[in-house]
Amino acid sequence: MTADDAATATAGDGDPPEPYGEFLDHVKRLTYVGDARQLLNWDQQVMMPEGGTPARAKQQSALSTLGHELLTDDDLAAWLDDLADADLSPQQQAVVREIRRKHERAVSVPDDLVSRISEATSNALPVWEQAREDADFDAFEDTLDELVALKREYAAAIDPDRDPYAVLFEEYEPYLGLDVAERILDELAAQLPDLIDDIAASEVTLAAPFEGTYEESDQRALVEDALDVLGYDWTRGRLDTSTHPFTSGTQFDARITTRFTPDDPLDGLGSTIHEFGHATYELGLPREAYGTPLGGSRDLAVHESQSRFWENHVGRSPAFWELFAPHVADHLGVQADPGALYEATNRVSPGPIRVEADELTYHLHIALRFEIERDLVRGDLDVAEVPAVWNEKMDEYLGLRPEDDAAGCLQDIHWSNGAFGYFPTYSLGSVLAAQLAAAMQEDLPLSEHVRDGEFDPVHDWLTERVHRHGCRYTTPDLVREATGEALTADHFLAYVTDKYGALYDL
Ligand SMILES: [Zn+2]
Repeated sequence: MTADDAATATAGDGDPPEPYGEFLDHVKRLTYVGDARQLLNWDQQVMMPEGGTPARAKQQSALSTLGHELLTDDDLAAWLDDLADADLSPQQQAVVREIRRKHERAVSVPDDLVSRISEATSNALPVWEQAREDADFDAFEDTLDELVALKREYAAAIDPDRDPYAVLFEEYEPYLGLDVAERILDELAAQLPDLIDDIAASEVTLAAPFEGTYEESDQRALVEDALDVLGYDWTRGRLDTSTHPFTSGTQFDARITTRFTPDDPLDGLGSTIHEFGHATYELGLPREAYGTPLGGSRDLAVHESQSRFWENHVGRSPAFWELFAPHVADHLGVQADPGALYEATNRVSPGPIRVEADELTYHLHIALRFEIERDLVRGDLDVAEVPAVWNEKMDEYLGLRPEDDAAGCLQDIHWSNGAFGYFPTYSLGSVLAAQLAAAMQEDLPLSEHVRDGEFDPVHDWLTERVHRHGCRYTTPDLVREATGEALTADHFLAYVTDKYGALYDL
């Protein structure tokens, strides 16, 4: 039992201060509305027939407005005032801290604007999908322009005096600070190109054991096996396909989507393991705290650290392939040895598509998006210029130009969701994943466990250090609690330098 647990036990033995119970019931209703909205979004992306969009936009908008009303409620404001000086346990204080932050942001934003953003993003999804299918940025331009304007309006409503991009970034990563994020991204952008250049100059060619195309049914059987092996709880989850893989749910029901590429079965496998990491975070949250911030996941960098941990530090390891190579032979008929499969999952090769990028070039995809969206939100770049700037930066960073906008600026769903400020959290997630893996290896033999298919100790470690805390700690405090130090790019840079140095004989 930690000191905090002891404090809870003491505070929990007596009744909490008077308004706390009512406050907590209100908070739970707010969470349930948000979770229902998330499920409608899952349905829209996975199950809903095309014709459903107009009705779904209205439903999403109504729930969004309801959530906003609950969050800006006068009673809630009064309870937050009453609880400011109340004698609360550290856990209760954390709940108040999280809700206060959300409440204060929400009261700054007019109901009408919330509603307009929700409806605009819901309508934007099919427009983006069609524009992407047709590789026609012009068809998406007005929609994107509207979304940027709405999000600028949103940032200004929260704080008209601050950088709107910093305000939007805090929507996804509230406690870290844009300055910390920029410092880490700058470090990656400064260090990785040299390593990528050395790899390009290397004489080594890594194995590519996959040729031709593979049936979706075989690929599906393969990724289902991977989920079984890694320990996905099918009684609390499911696997479907969607344009852009994602995870949605709670500790009771965390669903994964993936997608299958006929000629690249490793793409579907990697995506699935990635989403599995997100799902295990949700499934590892304390059940008894469902509906409160203590039963909710921390923000996006932490979430992404869980997916990247499984995708990269497990799924792209030699030990994983010793375990999993027979499944590839079973389902795909590819008789590759574990070493060849390890090489195949770790080929460094600059390409136009972020979600297909390797562990190294990935972060230059993020740098490009970060710079473009920051300039869009700050008003330093016109939406009409996005394709040209995208292609120029792609050339500068990765030495290539996408063949069309579908393989360029239309490839990601994020901006059509109004998610500006989200991209940096991907790189931060990789950085934290490496930091967690380094800390874990001090406590247990990760590679041996992976080779033996013994994933319980790995799940237990992550649950103990990260999942069980929910939002008990702010992100910087959680990172310190889990790893003993502040967020740093050092472990990630050491990991990729060692790994790729060995692979490419540098
Ligand atoms: Zn992810």
